[in-house]
Amino acid sequence: MRRALFLGFLLPLLISAQKLFPPLRIVGNLYYVGDNDLASYLVVTPRGDILINTGFAYSVPEIQSRVRALGFRLKDIKILLVTHAHSDHAAGEAKIKKLTGARMFAMREEVELLETGGKTDYLFGSSGWFPPVKVDRALEDGEKIELGGFIITAYLHPGHTKGSTSFAMEIAEAGQTYRVLIANLGNINEGTALLDNPKYPNIIQDYARTFQAQKELPCDIFLTSHSAQFGLLSKWRPGAVYDPNRFVDPAGYIRAVARTESRYLLQLQEERSEEQAWKDHLKFKPVIPQ
Ligand SMILES: [Zn+2]
Repeated sequence: MRRALFLGFLLPLLISAQKLFPPLRIVGNLYYVGDNDLASYLVVTPRGDILINTGFAYSVPEIQSRVRALGFRLKDIKILLVTHAHSDHAAGEAKIKKLTGARMFAMREEVELLETGGKTDYLFGSSGWFPPVKVDRALEDGEKIELGGFIITAYLHPGHTKGSTSFAMEIAEAGQTYRVLIANLGNINEGTALLDNPKYPNIIQDYARTFQAQKELPCDIFLTSHSAQFGLLSKWRPGAVYDPNRFVDPAGYIRAVARTESRYLLQLQEERSEEQAWKDHLKFKPVIPQ
C-alpha cells in the first residue's frame, strides 16, 4: 500500500522526465518527426514545408518540439498530408491546421473520412473518432504535389481505408538520387470482413489492386505509417550520425508488401472455407427431435 502510494506520487514526475523521442534527418530535405511508433515526416522546401501524418492529438506538441529541435518552424508548414484517416495518424491534423494555417490535401476517397472525423469508417465508424479536418484539395491517384520546386506523388492504395495513400519522392544527396516511398501497407485490422462486407463491397478488389500497385513502385528508401513496419530502430539509434544509406532497403520493402499480401490471402482463404462450410451445413435437413 505504501509502495503504491509512493509510485502514484512518483509516476507523473517520471513521465514528465521521460525524454522526447528525437527527430532525425532521413535523407536530404526529409526528416522524421514522429515518435517510436507513429511516423510523421517533415519535408522542407524553400517555399515552406510539408507535414505527412500528425499522430494522435497528444502528438502535436511533441511534433512541434521536434520541428523546433531541428531548427525549423511549425508555422512554415504549408501543406498537410496523411497516409490514412485513422486517429493514430490524423487526430492532430485539425490542431496543426489551426496552428499553422496550412492547407490539407487528401486523396479524394479519403476526404469524407477526414471531414467526418472517422465517423464514416467501414470498421471504426462507431468509435475511434478524431477531430474532423476540412480538406482544401482532393487528390487523384498519381497526382503530383509541388512546393518550392519539390515534388511528391500521391498514390491511391486502398483497403486499409478507402483512400489510403502512399507518397513517393526523389531526393538527391551527394551525387546520388534516392527513390523514397512512404508506403501505406495493406494491413488488415482485426474485425475486418473481406467477404460480403456491406460497408465496403469492393474491399477484396481494392486490397488486391494495392498489392499489385505496390509491387510495381520503385523504392530505395522504404518508410511507412508506423516506424516498426520499416524497422526504424533496427536501422537507426538516437545519436547516430547522419547517413541516408542506412534507410536504403528495397528488399525490406518487397518483403513487407509480400508479407501483407500473404496475410490478406490467408484471411480470404479462411473466410471462403468458413462460408463454404456454412453452405454445406445448410444442405443437411435439420434433425427433428422425437
Ligand atoms: Zn490504420
